[in-house]
Amino acid sequence: MRFDHCPVCGRLLELRQIGDEGNVPFCKECERPWFPFSYPCVICLCMDEDGNVLLIKQSYGISRYVCVAGYIKAGEDAETALRREIAEETGLEVLGARYLYSRYFEKHDNLMLAFACRVRRSELKLSANEVSEANWFTPDDAYNALFEGAYGRDMLNEVKRLEKEGLLGI
Ligand SMILES: [Zn+2]
Repeated sequence: MRFDHCPVCGRLLELRQIGDEGNVPFCKECERPWFPFSYPCVICLCMDEDGNVLLIKQSYGISRYVCVAGYIKAGEDAETALRREIAEETGLEVLGARYLYSRYFEKHDNLMLAFACRVRRSELKLSANEVSEANWFTPDDAYNALFEGAYGRDMLNEVKRLEKEGLLGI
């Protein structure tokens, strides 16, 4: 997201040199810079107590298995966002979450924060608006159910690596 006009007062922004940041769009009225940014999201590899992986199909877009993901709301931290998204989409409670890595997703200008999430396995209560289907898989089956290039595949590999080294911690 890049700003040409101030999102508060609507004034046309001017470039101003700010520290080491170089020229940054600046509102003279509000006396503040408007740094470009990418929308932050969480993407969650949901695992039960035995390491089974939950994948969902969204009600919109292409019908294929994906991980639970969603935008971090204004004023919300990533950990709260992932608990909220997982609860909203699947009805499951998060027991622990571990940050894995971030990836920039150019198509939607998102900064994706990837988390491994341990969830309490219980009855699924799928979001009526957003989720058409959800299923549990072994890690290997989950890998195969995900499409080529899916973030979930990367996340499964990273979780496997961390578990092998005893570093997953959730
Ligand atoms: Zn302004």
